[in-house]
Amino acid sequence: MPVALFESPTLERRRYCECCGFPSLFVPDVEPRNRFEWDGSPDWENSGGTCDLCEWESRPLDARGNPVRAPRDDANDRLSLEQARANYARFEWHLRDALAAQQAEDEERVAGEWDDSEELTP
Ligand SMILES: [Zn+2]
Repeated sequence: MPVALFESPTLERRRYCECCGFPSLFVPDVEPRNRFEWDGSPDWENSGGTCDLCEWESRPLDARGNPVRAPRDDANDRLSLEQARANYARFEWHLRDALAAQQAEDEERVAGEWDDSEELTP
């Protein structure tokens, strides 16, 4: 069975990471042989493999979007997927804290910009 596709009006099309479950792997369109042949089909074989978030290398896909069974011998430092998921669950709060801190900083900066504009108003 083909893997699930994440589609959004504002982001590029992606597939889901096997480890952390985020839609982090880019899926390009099939390259048309000429401009009349473009049909927007997903190019599964050239889809992204390594997750930017958790660094897990998901299995490559065949032309129909089915995971190819055998992973490379040296993929993912020989960790099992179960071990990698456990590691991700253990450390994911670091990511959440970093995102929350960034968001608070952005909101503070935006609020500061508002204060400045009020001072300049005659
Ligand atoms: Zn991931």
